[in-house]
Amino acid sequence: MQIQDLMNYDEDRFEKLEHSIEEYENVKNSIKTGIEDAEKIQKQKEKILKKFNATEEQWNDYRWQLNNRFETVDDIGDILDLSDDEKNKIKEVGDKFRYAISPYYMSVIDPDDPNCPVRKQAIPCYEEMDEAGDLDPMDEAGWSPVELITRRYPDRLIIKVTNMCGMYCRFCQRRRMIGEHDVNESREKIAKAIEYVREHKKIRDVLITGGDAFMLSDQTIDWLLSELRSIEHVEIIRFGTRTPVTLPQRITPELVSILKKYHPIFVNTHFNSQREITNESKAACEMLANAGIPLGNQMVLLNGVNNDPFVVRKLNQQLLKIRVKPYYIFHPKTVKGTSHFWVNMEEGMEIMESLRGRTSGMAIPTYIVNGSEGLGKTPIMPNYLLYMGKDKVIMRNWEGRPFQVENKK
Ligand SMILES: *Cc1c(COP(=O)(O)O)cnc(C)c1O
Repeated sequence: MQIQDLMNYDEDRFEKLEHSIEEYENVKNSIKTGIEDAEKIQKQKEKILKKFNATEEQWNDYRWQLNNRFETVDDIGDILDLSDDEKNKIKEVGDKFRYAISPYYMSVIDPDDPNCPVRKQAIPCYEEMDEAGDLDPMDEAGWSPVELITRRYPDRLIIKVTNMCGMYCRFCQRRRMIGEHDVNESREKIAKAIEYVREHKKIRDVLITGGDAFMLSDQTIDWLLSELRSIEHVEIIRFGTRTPVTLPQRITPELVSILKKYHPIFVNTHFNSQREITNESKAACEMLANAGIPLGNQMVLLNGVNNDPFVVRKLNQQLLKIRVKPYYIFHPKTVKGTSHFWVNMEEGMEIMESLRGRTSGMAIPTYIVNGSEGLGKTPIMPNYLLYMGKDKVIMRNWEGRPFQVENKK
């Protein structure tokens, strides 16, 4: 009898299949997206609008969002309950590492949950004073051929065009560059970086990042893209931006109409929690997708935010619904001031193991560890290869069932 026939006798096979995701099905509704908790977010938004005596129109203007970011404990205390002890600690940490939270991102924080994953990313906490780690573990400075550029690979590089962001993430890998004052780099400096790309014909992929690339004005983005598109060997242009998540008002019809003049343009954004998927971030992603821009997500694995297999499964499935493809999961870097977010690699591996087979391959990103001293992105994944023989290979499937395949040429 063939193994295939034997398996056909397994009549409740499909029941067993469904059973394998039962545990997830039981908890997924309690892992709420921002859309699923829209009422509470709306209430917070109204509270914030009242505080600023602002209108819906102002709320929807990203310049208003930027100009009214929460940068003092008293302002935060108007929206979230903070004890005096918490206020003092935020003040102390804030003197060392800057914070600024857009009113929009503030509204997404669950005021009833001290462990809210959005809150953890935005509000300073005392553990940031921990001295463990390094300010530049990736040695970006050592891999920079000219100012603003980091080049670690033969055919692609990044240009850091600004040190501004809509919100300053507490786990930021570039904390060393986030100064007290927001600066977009001057056109002269950016022009020098473009000149480097023009002179190096092997560069076929340019990644514009920062800070947050969409902190540049529409005019500067238009200029930068027209310069890059005038270089024949530049095939694709990518933006790294968290604005769809932290400042979705930045994605305007004007910006989108500029971007789509210069296709192929890709946008990689950065959702870390299913709670960040709100009606507003969904609308921002859909505007970009409708302009023909493929969207990817670069999640950072963060203790207390998303180091949970079901949280990542829910996040990635919901991202696909708003047309964002999970691209990478980054193992957290050992940046000074972020040690409370660090996660063991075993946890990351367990998350990867839990995704395969149990959800769409489309929802499964690559898990990446950044090589120390800037040695580059290095993938890790659970081992499915059990034995590699000369002409036979033994593997296991997603459930752990072993099988043998011929290895012939
Ligand atoms: C992340 C990164 C890239 C892009 O890497 P991909 O794997 O192609 O997404 C390019 N250059 C530098 C310096 C980077 O850090």
